[in-house]
Amino acid sequence: MNKSLKKLKKIEKTIQLLSPPNPSDFVGGKNSAAYKTALTNWKNPANYPKGGPLPLLRSQGYKPNIQKELDKALLEKNRLRLSNNEWNWLSQEHGTGIILLEDGERSLGSKGDAIITSSLGKVISVTVADCMPVLLMSESGTFALIHLGWRGILNGLLNLTIESMKKISHGEITSVLGPCIKSCCYEFGKMEIGRFCEKFGEEAEASTSDGRSSINLKYCVKKGLEKESIKIEHDEAVCTKCDPRHWSFREDSTKKRQVMIAFKQT
Ligand SMILES: [Zn+2]
Repeated sequence: MNKSLKKLKKIEKTIQLLSPPNPSDFVGGKNSAAYKTALTNWKNPANYPKGGPLPLLRSQGYKPNIQKELDKALLEKNRLRLSNNEWNWLSQEHGTGIILLEDGERSLGSKGDAIITSSLGKVISVTVADCMPVLLMSESGTFALIHLGWRGILNGLLNLTIESMKKISHGEITSVLGPCIKSCCYEFGKMEIGRFCEKFGEEAEASTSDGRSSINLKYCVKKGLEKESIKIEHDEAVCTKCDPRHWSFREDSTKKRQVMIAFKQT
């Protein structure tokens, strides 16, 4: 084992220890001040007493590409923690590309914002930090994940994905809605709001908690599902910016993401 690989292993071990605080360990749970402070500290590597990943790397004179390797190793570990089946993911681009995976096919970052499969054991995934992840499941066993941001919603990605699914499946389609930024925090310009109202009606416009015009993304998605008579099995109704358990791009321009995954168990 060469020297830098040894160092990498050592730092990987340190990172492994840095797991997020658990709300149930705090009196008052997730709303307690102590938990919120612990979470803020956990999110900021500079606050680790031993030196978090970044300060540690800097003090040992590592070059940035080592950080990339570490990020990759951490990502792989996080994936395995959720499922050790074959992972498939997208290079999301706020477009309307849909990736359809047959048995034996993989997506290791294909460009697109929706992914569909009927294969057993295949893990499909989308990542988000304020946009909405949506799962669609058909009675005949085809399932899809969609990354729905404001552009995707306006450009009809939800409908396009439903159409693609219907071509290869039959029976009722149901859905699960993941967490996204809500109207309390999703301030928008009048022009875009106008486009949403045109497409989804006046209720697409809402206001933020401090009284500015905002978009109600979830309302628009629900409206789209309703049109197709798609039942919502579960709606994770939190706001990613208000809820400290979630990454939010609007909050701090983070590069970190939530992931929504789906697979059929073997
Ligand atoms: Zn909010």
